[in-house]
Amino acid sequence: MICEVHVTEPSVDQVRIGVMGGTFDPIHNGHLLAAEEARCNFNLREVIFVPSGHPPHKDVRRISSPEDRFRMVSLAVGGNRFFRVSRIEMDSPGPHHTVDTIGNLIKQYGPRVSFYFITGIDSVLQIMSWKSPLRLAEVCRLVAVSRPGYNLDRIRDLPEEVRASVRVLEIPLMAISSTDIRNRVREGRSVRYLVPDPVHRYLLERGLYRC
Ligand code: ATP
Repeated sequence: MICEVHVTEPSVDQVRIGVMGGTFDPIHNGHLLAAEEARCNFNLREVIFVPSGHPPHKDVRRISSPEDRFRMVSLAVGGNRFFRVSRIEMDSPGPHHTVDTIGNLIKQYGPRVSFYFITGIDSVLQIMSWKSPLRLAEVCRLVAVSRPGYNLDRIRDLPEEVRASVRVLEIPLMAISSTDIRNRVREGRSVRYLVPDPVHRYLLERGLYRC
């Protein structure tokens, strides 16, 4: 039996705000393009970047300090008046789950705001392993942006209750990942133009990812 789920779009007088969560180790141009495309396509008033405090799925000993990651995100978003950065996860004890972070933002911003959680298709396809995926799909829209190597059609594999919340967004594909940037720096290769210039300068000055 096909179960129809009706999701009401936010009314016109509701403010839409994007949230881009990530480890951002480091933030790169793929993140920024995804956020900007989502902002324009979904008429978002702003996009809040939320560097993770303690991501439950990553080995915390192997990632750069929250302060370094926060600084790099701040430098990266500085040139866009619609972009903000939040310490909401960094300043509270972890582990942090997206559903709780969005819940806290809802408390902070009030009921007139609809949140759009912007995430790569790779992450959306993992969503059933996150905390309370059905609840997350209820409290915000999930914007699944295209990423090289992932087929957007795989959204069909998600349960209907989650799928109903997903808005697929095709963006110009950028084959960039933070892992690749860290590897390049370690190998002494250039990462210029893969990350914004101020981030490039910062990671070189701080000697990040050298070993
Ligand atoms: P890592 O390589 O360390 O796993 P990452 O490049 O995937 O990092 P994250 O900080 O983990 O970056 O990602 C934050 C969000 O940005 C995720 O939802 C991810 O899918 C998305 N994202 C990352 N890189 C891209 C890209 N090149 N294009 C579109 N979305 C991306």
